[in-house]
Amino acid sequence: MIQGIGASFGIAIGKAFVLPNWEWDLPEQKIDVADLAREFDRLYEGIRTSKVEIEQMKDELREVVGTEESYIFDAHLAILEDPVFMNEIQGIIQRQYKAAEVAVKEAIDHFVTMFDLLDDEYMKERALDIKDVGNRLLKHLLGAPEITLPADTQPFILVAKELSPSQLAHLNPKHVLGIATLAGSTTSHSSIMARALGIPLVVGLESKLEDAIQTGDYLILDGASGIVHLEPDTELTKHYSELHALQKEATQRLKGIIDIKPMTKDGKEMELAANISSLKELDVALSSGTNGVGLFRTEFLYMDRHRLPQEEEQFEVYRSVADKLEGRPLIIRTLDIGGDKQLDYFELPEEENPFLGYRAIRICLDKTDLFKTQLRAILRASCHGKVKIMYPLISSIDEVRAANALLNEAKQELTEAGHRFQEDIEVGVMIELPAAVMIADLLAEEVDFFSIGTNDLVQFTLAVDRMNDQISHMYEPFHPAVLRMLKQTVEAAKRAGIHIGVCGEMAGDLRALPIWLALDVDELSMSSNAILPIKERLLRLKQEDSRSTFDELLACRTSKEIHEVLARGYDSRSASTNALA
Ligand code: PEP
Ligand code: MG
Repeated sequence: MIQGIGASFGIAIGKAFVLPNWEWDLPEQKIDVADLAREFDRLYEGIRTSKVEIEQMKDELREVVGTEESYIFDAHLAILEDPVFMNEIQGIIQRQYKAAEVAVKEAIDHFVTMFDLLDDEYMKERALDIKDVGNRLLKHLLGAPEITLPADTQPFILVAKELSPSQLAHLNPKHVLGIATLAGSTTSHSSIMARALGIPLVVGLESKLEDAIQTGDYLILDGASGIVHLEPDTELTKHYSELHALQKEATQRLKGIIDIKPMTKDGKEMELAANISSLKELDVALSSGTNGVGLFRTEFLYMDRHRLPQEEEQFEVYRSVADKLEGRPLIIRTLDIGGDKQLDYFELPEEENPFLGYRAIRICLDKTDLFKTQLRAILRASCHGKVKIMYPLISSIDEVRAANALLNEAKQELTEAGHRFQEDIEVGVMIELPAAVMIADLLAEEVDFFSIGTNDLVQFTLAVDRMNDQISHMYEPFHPAVLRMLKQTVEAAKRAGIHIGVCGEMAGDLRALPIWLALDVDELSMSSNAILPIKERLLRLKQEDSRSTFDELLACRTSKEIHEVLARGYDSRSASTNALA
């Protein structure tokens, strides 16, 4: 057994194909002064061809995984236009009389070594980008064929030292059962793409794999635990085959209820929506029969890139999501960075308490251009579906009014520019701070809907950092204080007659379903794989029974008592489907 890092969920069982590293046969002799111009011509021609090829790959990838993943190749195009990289290559040709390909190889090595030495994951990823794009350029200069994958259609597990985004882009997910790489991190471009393509991936196997695996070896790869088994015995193969089959079977069984309306036995309808952060995730959501998107975490559009996304790029993504939803509601949450979500190119200050610091709506109300760019993009997409805007981390009426004033400015700017948008677009807030709960009655008069962000609400109500392992046992969604917060919020929304949803992890927790039914919330938004298990349970419950359960819950003095009450109405069949989800 070899332990790596699980970077993309799923089990793969099959034969290995070990991808050889690109090795180059470079000319050793120096060039004549008279040939300098020819070398520069060859270099520029190679750059032109590489750019065309990258643009083509970007287009292909956009078809497969969506616009935002395809922007990965913008980083590659930027390298080919980077004056520092280019000056280095030109300098080697001009001053050392070396052939274009030798100069390119030396420049790649120079920058890769430099970035690798830095103790910074982001720079290490950039080193990978330089290597990838540099190898493409070398390939054109040398006329070397690209390493090809096996042409036959027998699916395989790909084993590589490292896998570049452009290599991944060429893969057909139907032929690749899984991927194992020596290098890599879960946040690399390649890992993001593997997840988006649904290919199980284990990274960080380092020296453990070197030379150990040959093409044709039999492997089992578990993308959840990060484990790779080399030449497993029959017992292990049987175990994983069964696990694989169970996963498929559970998914298949639940598919049977996709078209059934989410409604309890006594007629309470509940919208079951999806939380997404990319277009590919939307495809998974649609295949789970989602009623819409209750939370589009847009910050992921801003992450893993070199600069802020422009209005046009954002508009394209929002519009594609709206188009694909075909009229189903789409709640787009405005930028929620800060805390654990940092942008490499956006210098956020070092803070003692980043979760209580400069983040989310606070940044947006400060950097108004950044905020209005996003608002304009969302507004423009509003003509393509039932788009709504949601502000995160709201703690006061002032913030809502300030955000709405900027929204009005954005509308004005669009009108002047001749763009169409939904003038009466719905605006809502996340209720995820105790302050927002306490003024929920006032907030309800200012907005069209609420969505309860239980992840942060639990964290802030209990003062338990949601990222801190040491106190994770204290992170208790089923705490009497949290129950009271939820009740107060929903009652305020109901009194004001506004739509009320839940989009934190509790929305997809089977145990919490009676609470939502008793409170009569309108919508639960969750990760796509929880939608069908929640629906299956909803179909078997009665809202009436949930109300008496909730009365019992309110009388509980401790979390333990709450868990005991909820466990009584919770059968193990549902629990197993949730575990597999
Ligand atoms: C939440 O806080 O519950 C929520 C949905 O937002 P996030 O998890 O993105 O902070
Ligand atoms: Mg939150």
